[in-house]
Amino acid sequence: MTVLAIDIGGTRFAAATIEPAGVITARLEMPVGPDPTATLKDLVARIVVPGLISEEGLTGVGIGVTGPLDAVSGTVSPAGIQAWRDFPLVKTVAGLLPGVPVHLAGEGQMMALGEWWRGPFSEGALLGVVVSSGIGGGLVIEGRPHLGPSGNAGHIGHIRAGEGWESCRCGAVGCVETIASGPSMVRWALANGWQQVVEPTFWAGRPVDARALAADAKRGVPVAVEAFDRAALALATAILTAAALFDVDNVVIGGGVAAAGSTLLNPLRQAVADQAGLGFLRRLRVAPTTLRRDAVLFGAAALAFGCE
Ligand SMILES: [Zn+2]
Repeated sequence: MTVLAIDIGGTRFAAATIEPAGVITARLEMPVGPDPTATLKDLVARIVVPGLISEEGLTGVGIGVTGPLDAVSGTVSPAGIQAWRDFPLVKTVAGLLPGVPVHLAGEGQMMALGEWWRGPFSEGALLGVVVSSGIGGGLVIEGRPHLGPSGNAGHIGHIRAGEGWESCRCGAVGCVETIASGPSMVRWALANGWQQVVEPTFWAGRPVDARALAADAKRGVPVAVEAFDRAALALATAILTAAALFDVDNVVIGGGVAAAGSTLLNPLRQAVADQAGLGFLRRLRVAPTTLRRDAVLFGAAALAFGCE
């Protein structure tokens, strides 16, 4: 019994064949080419090959995708993949693997489910938050992912929190994503006088990004520290809102910006502690991802094994 787990990110696709005990038997990762559908087909063809794992050996496929998505129609419109608008992802993958059931959910949801299944967060309610070029999230309550009727539950990046009034790419104004995503933090820092002062040899030729901002924050550059503090405050508000609604025990933070480690986590934990009122909110624990990039794959595998 093996399932195929697929992680559809904005810039890279990953896939793994995973057994019920959580053992990864094959893993592959590819950058998204100019034709994302061709990349997807290539990825599936390379990992599902006779001798390694055949179509007959697969019992299901689970896909975690950057949102938004429509779980009813099986279509996706990932913000980072312009070529895919209402793209029939489920139908496309089902066409590649006839007879194998295909399950679809959001990246943040699958990150949370993966951490619940294979990480140290399998008690009570878990909120997963992906802080990256956008902000995603997902809830696992009593061992089951809370996906919602359209499959979009957990879009914590589009809660309005903090003092932002910027237009969001979703069409609303002041979303957490406009303050706390990597590009938003960089934009704010540049507008407020940030001049990259990290070692030019390391960053030469690279675009100014959240990693460079994190490096400067770690060095104590005030505007970089403030960008992270501001992001942490908005994230904490959103997290506490979700925690108040769903009685959350643990929050696990993943995504590229979360790789900044304590630079993000320390102000985030402080802001959560400062804002938490009720006793059940004060017990909230905020921790970094333990599975890193494999969290979404493990979550997608759990979904394919029937955890929904
Ligand atoms: Zn938004």
